Amino acid sequence: MACGADVNRTRFAPSPTGPLHLGHAFAAVTAARLADPGEFLLRIEDIDRSRCRPEYEDLIATDLHWLGLDWPQPVMRQSERLPVYRTALERLARLGLVYPCQCRRADIRAALSAPQEGVTPVTGPDGPVYPGTCRHRRMQDARPDDAIRLNIERALDHIQAHEIAFLDEIVTPGQPHRMSAADLIGGVGDVVLARRGMGTSYHLAVVLDDAAQGITLVTRGKDLFESTYIHLILQKILGLPTPRYHHHRLIRDAAGKRLAKRDDARALRLYRAEGVSPGDLLHSLGF
Ligand code: GLU
Repeated sequence: MACGADVNRTRFAPSPTGPLHLGHAFAAVTAARLADPGEFLLRIEDIDRSRCRPEYEDLIATDLHWLGLDWPQPVMRQSERLPVYRTALERLARLGLVYPCQCRRADIRAALSAPQEGVTPVTGPDGPVYPGTCRHRRMQDARPDDAIRLNIERALDHIQAHEIAFLDEIVTPGQPHRMSAADLIGGVGDVVLARRGMGTSYHLAVVLDDAAQGITLVTRGKDLFESTYIHLILQKILGLPTPRYHHHRLIRDAAGKRLAKRDDARALRLYRAEGVSPGDLLHSLGF
């Protein structure tokens, strides 16, 4: 029988904004296999109400059952957790670590291309590193349509961190991945913790939800590798446990491009409709 300390709890956390494709199948089965003999959970990441559809949520369950996966009920839904996200944001605001931001993408691009800035724009996990235009603003002056950003420099000061390090235990066991405070400030920057009109962002919600679900091993694609540094910072500030991490490879198309939801040709439902067996599909993904 497995010893309690060795039993993993993992999760697959799709957004119901389109049909699942081969990349999702790979992510979900990776999470489920690494949980075994522990627990594999499903979480629905549906904070972007304008893009989420109930029919895609139904299809997620159908596709995952077809792949042979199962998970406990009830399923956590981010749209039901807005008060939790709000409380965490209020706590970060009391600590003086967040600020309201009214910049649109075009404003950020314009600020970054202004000649007086004299620096080459750096791309972070969410796109160009935010130039700090609104950093002087205070939360008491926030407007309803503002986004809320983390002041990463203050956040690192608050936890007295000169660097953030984590292990990716399966791919590079025993070798911590590190990023210095200076690199985090320059290369990740003030990320959004609440998107305009949404009450949270991926970064804030994922940290709170993984803790609430007691996830011990977060498995997700390598594209989210840099985001993990942000998540460790938030976990430390909010007093949440840091799970273990495994960033897996991404499934690419023949041209080497990462699969996206719009590549409907690779939707799992189409393989199912064509009579492909789940076993053959998993085999083609290397399982
Ligand atoms: N909803 C996110 C995605 O589909 C989940 C990321 C994660 O597992 O942390 O990319």
